[in-house]
Amino acid sequence: MNENKKRGNDGRVAVMVDKGLFIKGIVDEGLAAGVKAYFNTNVIDVWNELEGVVVADSKGNYYKGKFVIAADGVNSRLVRKLGLNQGRRWLGTYKDRAWDMEGVEFDEMEALIFCMGWECSISLAPHVHEGLYHVAAASYDWQLDLEDGMQKYLTSKAFAPWFKNARVGGHSTSCVSNIYSSMSNAFINNILIAGDATWMQECAILGALLMGWKAGHSVSLAVKQKQINKEGVSDYVNFYTKDLIGRYGMGGGSGLDFSDYFSPEDMEYMASIVDNPLRSTLDFYTIYRTIGKTYLDLFPRIQDERPDIMEKLFSIRNVHPEVGLQKRRRNGFLTVS
Ligand SMILES: Cc1cc2nc3c(=O)[nH]c(=O)nc-3n(C[C@H](O)[C@H](O)[C@H](O)COP(=O)(O)OP(=O)(O)OC[C@H]3O[C@@H](n4cnc5c(N)ncnc54)[C@H](O)[C@@H]3O)c2cc1C
Repeated sequence: MNENKKRGNDGRVAVMVDKGLFIKGIVDEGLAAGVKAYFNTNVIDVWNELEGVVVADSKGNYYKGKFVIAADGVNSRLVRKLGLNQGRRWLGTYKDRAWDMEGVEFDEMEALIFCMGWECSISLAPHVHEGLYHVAAASYDWQLDLEDGMQKYLTSKAFAPWFKNARVGGHSTSCVSNIYSSMSNAFINNILIAGDATWMQECAILGALLMGWKAGHSVSLAVKQKQINKEGVSDYVNFYTKDLIGRYGMGGGSGLDFSDYFSPEDMEYMASIVDNPLRSTLDFYTIYRTIGKTYLDLFPRIQDERPDIMEKLFSIRNVHPEVGLQKRRRNGFLTVS
């Protein structure tokens, strides 16, 4: 991290995007170019008619088009309406609480930090607005009190020095999402699905923007070429199935919580033995691969120094992925799909 910092912009691995500002920019540009927008509108239904696709809102308005792009997020009403969650694996119900804090101070504040081993998962991230810092607690367990979990973390011996002058500054947020594995195909009857509606939070802001852009571009081409069908938007269909699903798979992971298997002291030991800086990246797939490879190389040392931990590492490899997912599902709330 410090090495990267010394390299200035060349050492920067990512930039934080304020999604609200970014979207506002796109919307303003669209409006200026003559796009018609309907704000504060709750879309409740979608169906096909001979001449195209119809979307209905809660006020009784109908909107007709040649294609529809459904990008209504992780709990997508349109995806449920279309029955497209059938066949996706339900991975649990995720809840998150986040605060913007002022007065946080420690080295390497530019890093995105995930703290493992706590009751809830704790993440820390720089904020786009100077002077603010982002802290969040999340869990798949409805019973966990996220505020309490965060307080335990902020006041713990190891991390309290970072937060001794901290107070809640900007705004705080919360969300509850039912998480499913990805959809194998993001197109049905001239309806394109994009962003979290088809994937999950792993697609991240840039992934969602990328899908939205690709879908919009594909629809423009299809309309221009008067090819109002799947072939017309094959650019998006192929991008989704080959470049996204083909490359990253359907997602889902094992659902295993390390804290069910390793004590805080075990994790302390495992963190302490990684002494080379790892590759800097904000790509979650690369992060998990890098961590896996790092510990694979350290297995002989762990076997030597802590055979008890090695035994746990081996036993965890034999745990069926469904075991962790079943625990998450027991603690979640499946919505009607
Ligand atoms: C807790 C949490 C933390 C995350 N942290 C990060 C992070 O640090 N970095 C990162 O890159 N990604 C992060 N992600 C993932 C990222 O936020 C999402 O992948 C991305 O924002 C999805 O964008 P989207 O446009 O597909 O969906 P959304 O941002 O959910 O947008 C969907 C839009 O559709 C609207 N909508 C929904 N239903 C209707 C309806 N019926 N009618 C009309 N409009 C409707 C909603 O109001 C919303 O504006 C996080 C996700 C979660 C849950």
